[in-house]
Parts: sequence; structure tokens; C-alpha cells
Amino acid sequence: MLKPNYPTLVLTCHVSTRVAPQLNGAAATTGLYGFDHLKTPKGFQRFVDDAIERSGELVNYISSMPSSAEVVRAMDEISNTVCCVVDSAELCRNTHPDREFVEAAGKASMRINEYLHYLNTNHSLYAAVKRAEKDGHLLTKEAHRAANQLRIDFEKGGIHLPPEKLARVNQLNLSILQLSREFGENITIDPGYVDIFPASRIPKHIHHLLKPIHRFTSGTSSGSLGSWNNMKEKGLRITTDHRTLVSVMHWVSDEEVRKMAYIQGNSVPHANLEVLDKLAAARHELAQMMGYRSYAEFVVKPNLASSPEVVISFLHEMSKMVRPRADEEFEAIRNFKREKCGQRCIDLEPWDETYYTAMMKSSGHNLDSSIVASYFPLPQCIEGLKVLVNSLFGAMLCNVPMAPGESWHPDVLKMSLHHPEEGDLGYLYLDLYSRKGKYPGCANFAVKGGCRISETEYQLPVVALLCNFSGSPGSSTVRLNHGDVETLFHEFGHALHSLFSRTDYQHFSGTRVALDFAEMPSNLFEYYAWDYRVLRTFAKHYSTGEIIPEKLVKSMQGARDMFAATELQRQVFYALADQTLFGEQPASPNDMNSILAEFKTQHTSWKHVEGTNWQIRFSHLVNYGAGYYSYLYAKCFAATIWKKLCQEDPLSLTAGTALRTKVLQHGGSKEPAELLNDLVGEGILKHCDGGIVPDITCFLEESREAWEENSLCMEDTRCYVMWKMIEPGMAGYLRPTNHQKLSSWITILCNASGSSVQPSHVAPEFRLSWNIFTLLTNIKISEEITVQCKYFRLNRTRRGNLEDTEKSSTVATNSQVDEFSDEYTAKLEQEHTTNRDASVHQEL
Ligand SMILES: [Zn+2]
Repeated sequence: MLKPNYPTLVLTCHVSTRVAPQLNGAAATTGLYGFDHLKTPKGFQRFVDDAIERSGELVNYISSMPSSAEVVRAMDEISNTVCCVVDSAELCRNTHPDREFVEAAGKASMRINEYLHYLNTNHSLYAAVKRAEKDGHLLTKEAHRAANQLRIDFEKGGIHLPPEKLARVNQLNLSILQLSREFGENITIDPGYVDIFPASRIPKHIHHLLKPIHRFTSGTSSGSLGSWNNMKEKGLRITTDHRTLVSVMHWVSDEEVRKMAYIQGNSVPHANLEVLDKLAAARHELAQMMGYRSYAEFVVKPNLASSPEVVISFLHEMSKMVRPRADEEFEAIRNFKREKCGQRCIDLEPWDETYYTAMMKSSGHNLDSSIVASYFPLPQCIEGLKVLVNSLFGAMLCNVPMAPGESWHPDVLKMSLHHPEEGDLGYLYLDLYSRKGKYPGCANFAVKGGCRISETEYQLPVVALLCNFSGSPGSSTVRLNHGDVETLFHEFGHALHSLFSRTDYQHFSGTRVALDFAEMPSNLFEYYAWDYRVLRTFAKHYSTGEIIPEKLVKSMQGARDMFAATELQRQVFYALADQTLFGEQPASPNDMNSILAEFKTQHTSWKHVEGTNWQIRFSHLVNYGAGYYSYLYAKCFAATIWKKLCQEDPLSLTAGTALRTKVLQHGGSKEPAELLNDLVGEGILKHCDGGIVPDITCFLEESREAWEENSLCMEDTRCYVMWKMIEPGMAGYLRPTNHQKLSSWITILCNASGSSVQPSHVAPEFRLSWNIFTLLTNIKISEEITVQCKYFRLNRTRRGNLEDTEKSSTVATNSQVDEFSDEYTAKLEQEHTTNRDASVHQEL
């Protein structure tokens, strides 16, 4: 979810040149993204040369001591000029189908980065920026802020340090870059694998993801005593890269196979253990040279949070908040596993999570992902983006033609964000289909940042939104699963942040904001992908045109919320681990692994598996070192904004306009806290130990509502215990709505059977019927009385109160038992039979 959109260079990058894309006139051939230089791969070289030349002129100009306002303007023009090269090279490297272009872009990227290093260590620029900052009173507020940030960014590169220290800082930065690259490469090179024999242990429908293998086994052939024949056995090799691993965890019922794949997948690439240690050490040393106690402090300082202590206390609060519910979910999954396996004491393992939760979700909510996807053909989803832009901002997304040479692939679309009164506000390229060699995830790439060129001219922002949806354009078969729709909306939130940006300086354009604020708009836009009032405007069946049924959306929401605490807990755990890894360092790096293992037990409901190291595959640690918590900050901010501003009427122009004018258009030109307060007022953030944390009230309410809703729902699906007394005239059923009676029955049964099942085993009351099911499944009390337990989906049931029940437990009579009408029983049986197809309800 976190996308690399934050600045890493002093002169942070976006684009420039004042050449606007030429849209009309067939003869007006332009280059990639509308840059005249980029008509051919070779053009990248000229592009770099020109950028360096122009920047050189500006450097000279700044050295000639112009006014402070001019210094800031010229600095921003350098940034704009250089960034146009950096950003186009980056986009080209990640998307262009032509190798020559990719290679040229790679070379351009290296040259321009070297030049950036020269700029970032240029003392006359640094001195001019410092002077401009001091002259704050002569500048606009935004210019002063720019001068201040430029100075801080220069110092982040160590320019203010004595030469020998600066040399070491440069060395460290270089090695951090190399280690980061190595970390990623190792993941690609060494995804790990396990070989499984026979192939039948893995369901057929995922065989295509795996590699067929064979082995020869020797065995006796029947009939010829003592003669050994070689038998060829078919097997499958599971490459444990992330994607395959997820499929295996989801679909393979053979626990041993899942276990092997999980362990292998979380133990490779082994080389990254050392890389990560070195990376943490290098970052730590760098931070210390800069005068910080830890890399975490170095990273967090300029953010809203301001210090790792603030981050950690926020994360601990979240951890504590989510624990009880996550434990409940854990137990529900464990009990489900026990029921499925028919073993009452079996433990729940990390490799069980995906497998059983997927099953529980599909049975609990009767969701078929292909049915959901049939309401989300891609063209309709783009329609959805148009609806948002129109309703929220009174603007339009219009398809615009591209000049010859501007596009990099026939799939690419270009759209203008057009306002009827204000005209075009920015341009968006959409490159949505997956293809070989393309950037694998979903992300927003800047092409040009918005900035003021003169009193009357504004450089319009240009961004490219990349996804990897499978299928081909125009084909009616391209339907998104709902997760993809959510991602598309998320990325669109980033895109709008850039497109609506109207800052004076491109240094502050759009998403160039504090790291722990950057993900707010995108997280807010995810809400739109879930709200029925929004979905009904565009989610239509690909063949019948039927609007998505509200009931289906409810089921989708239910499935989303079913293990939401487990997911949230995982994110909190990652964020804490990230703070720890790059926080103050333990005496020996070896300690770090045991600290992280310990952490897992402390902060999640799941166990750590000895020998596994999830962190060596988790590239966010590299990309967001000590910044992973930002994702949770964004979630909380978005929850508050949604609740206070959007929930009542999600498509309201008033809310959209507020969002645009109070947040989006300011990019990074104002303090995020100021923007948030201005948008929402009280109740969005709190000051705490010198930093800022999100007010989690709305997030908490939202979570609790979802959990509450869902706990009932879980009960629905899981707990129908039917008791049958096999004794003439005693056949009867007990409704789980009546937990008191159920509990008294347990008591009777326990006494009668001398079983170790005690009421305390079935506490707390919420899990009563669930546990009874598990515990009583195999009890045979006497020849006459057998307990049969079955699961049914039922209407919602409220929880009983166990303590009261215990006090009032009495011997149940026939009439108490015999309270289900035949009709009701028949209905349950019927429902049970229907649900069996969902492969979850198992008759025992
Ligand atoms: Zn994002």
C-alpha cells in the first residue's frame, strides 16, 4: 500500500521543461510524455545534457547573490529541470516495452543522479539557501518554508559536516543504496523452493503455477519376489516466491505441504540476514554522524510524529487495542481447524492462517470472487473514477488523444482532469494492464509536478498511474476482483493529490509531503471502493448491466471485516519491528533476530516458527526504513475524515471541495497538522510528547462496529449444535440462542459421562457454542444417549451469560429439550445440505 512517493533527494524530483504536450496536428510529433527530446532512446542523453546545462546556469545565477526570493525560485527551477529527467527516466525504466529505451533511461538515471549528488553537496547553493531562510520576512510563507526545507534536506546529506565526516557520510549513503539493491535482488534470485511428491498432494487448479518434476523410486513389483524396479513418480516443485506461496497457503489442504512451503518461504534468501544487519548498521552509523541517536529518530524527526518514542507509544496503544479481538479471531480459526481436522487439541500454526480464513470467509459470506468480479469490468471501474471526480469536485476526466510518440504502449490512455470553469487542471496517463518486463505492482509515477512559472502561467501536473491487471484492453473479460478495485482507488487518491496540487513550488507538489501524511488521501479513497452508494453508480454486471446488489456488497464488507483485527495486528507488528530494527541497536546483530521473534509472541496472537525470518523478505523495511508506521497513521486520519466529512453523503460536492481546497491543493506547502485541523477541526490529531499522533477515536469506533457486526456473523455460521438423545421420545434439539439451556445440558452431560469438559472450558460465553461443538463431538455418554453436533447457518444469535447460566443450571426436562419444531429442524437440515457445497460445513 505504501508507495515510493516521498522525496529522497534534496532536489526532489518531478518534471519540467515548459513544453506542454502537443495534442493536435498530426505533424507535431513529440517524444515520450510530450518531451521533444524523447523521440528516440538516444534523446535521453540530450535530455540529461540540457538539464545539466540549464541547471549550471541557474547555479551560477544563484552564486551571483540575487534576492532571497530569486534564490528560492531558481532553486526550485533547478529541481524542476533535473526532476523532469529523473522522473521520466524512472517511468521509462519501469514501463517501456523497448529494451533500448529502458537501457537509455537507466544510463540517464545514473548520470543525472551523479549530477544531483554534485548539486546536493554544493556549498554556494547551501549558503544561498541558508541566507534566504534567514530572510524569511522578505519571502512569502511558502517560499520561506521552501528555503527551510531545502536547508534541512541539504543537511541530511551532511553538507554541514567537516570534510572527513562528510566523506564517511557519502560512503555510508552509497553502501546503503547498494545494500538496498542487494536486498531486493536476493529476493528475486533466491525465492527458494520445495519439492512435493506425489503431485496429487496439491490441488490441480494450481498446478500451472508450479513446475512438474520427477523422481525414481525403487520398489518391488508385485509378483516377482525380490526384483526391484524403478518407478517414475510425478511431483511438483513449489517456488516459494511471494505470489506462489500465497496460492499454496490458500489452496493446499495437505498441512505438511503448507508447512514446508511456509518455512522455506520465510527462510530465504538467507543472504539477506547479513544484508539486513549491514543495512541496519550503516543506517545507524549514518544517523549517529548526523547527531541522532538512531536511524529511526533521523527518519521520524521531520514527520508529524517527530520522534520514535511518539511512534512507539502510538503503536503500543494500537497493539493493546487490537489484541483482545485478534485473540478472539485466532481462537475462532483454531476451533474451525479443530473441527475440520476432527482433532480437539490440534494447534493453529502460521501456515494455517490463509487456508482456514479463506474457507471461513467463503462459507461465512457465501462469496464467490468470480461473481463479485463480474460487476467490476475495468471500463466500469474507470467510469467509477469519473463519477468521483464529477460528484466530489465538479470536474471531469476526459479521454484526450496523444501526439505521435507521446505514448509508450498501445494500452496507455491519457486523460485530462478538466474543470468547466477552470479548464484543464492536470493530466493522467493510465497504464493498467500487466505485461512482461513492466513494473510489477501498482503505483503512481510523477511525470511533472505542478508549479508556478509566472504570474499568469502554471505548469500543470502530469502523473502516470500504473497497475498490472491481467487481460487485454477492450476485452470484456477484464474484470477486477474487488481487491484490485480498492487498489485502483487507492492509487487514484495519490494521483488526485498530485493533479489538484497548486503550490508555487514543485518542491511541494502533490504527494511531496511528510511521509506519515502521504498515504492519507489514498487511504481515504479506498473507502469509496467499499461504499454501496458509490458502488451502485458504476459497478454493473458485465453482461446484464445489472447494478451490484446491495446484499453482495454487505457480504463483501462482512468478509473484509471477518479477520480485520488479525490483519491490523500484523500491520502494527510490522511497524513495531521496523522501529526496532532501525531504532537504537542491540549489542550484537544476532540479538535482533531473537528480539523480533520475541516481538511476534508479544504483539501478535500467532507463534514464531523457529528458524524462520520473515524480515528478510519484507522489502518495506528497506524502502520505508523506520517509516512503515505511516500506513497506520494514514488509516486513522482517513477514518476520521471519512466519518466526519464524507460518510453522511460520500458523493457530496461540499465534502469534495473541502478536501480539494483545504488539503489536496496545498501539497507539502503547509504543515500537515494545519491542513488536517483546517479540514476536520477538533478530533483528528493529538499532541503528545512533542509530536503528533492521530486521534484514533473514529478508527476505533469503525473497527468496533465492524467487529461487533462480525462477531455476530461468525456466530451465525459456526454454531449450531444439535443434540439428539437417542432414546425413544427424547429426540430434541436445543437452540443455541438459548445458551442457558445449552449450558445446563453440558453440565448434565459432563456429569453423566464423567468427562473432563467443564464449564470453564467453554468460557467466555461468546465461544460457548463453538467450543461445545468441538468438545462434545466425540462424546458418547451411554449406549442410550449420543450427542450429535452439526453446524448450521442461522439468524443472528446474541450471547448468553455463562455465569448466570452456571448458577441456574438444572436438570433439563424433555420439554425443555424438545423445543424445536419439526419444520424448523427441516429448514436447518435443508440449509445445511445447501451449505455443504461451500466445502466448509462438515457433517461429523
Ligand atoms: Zn499508497
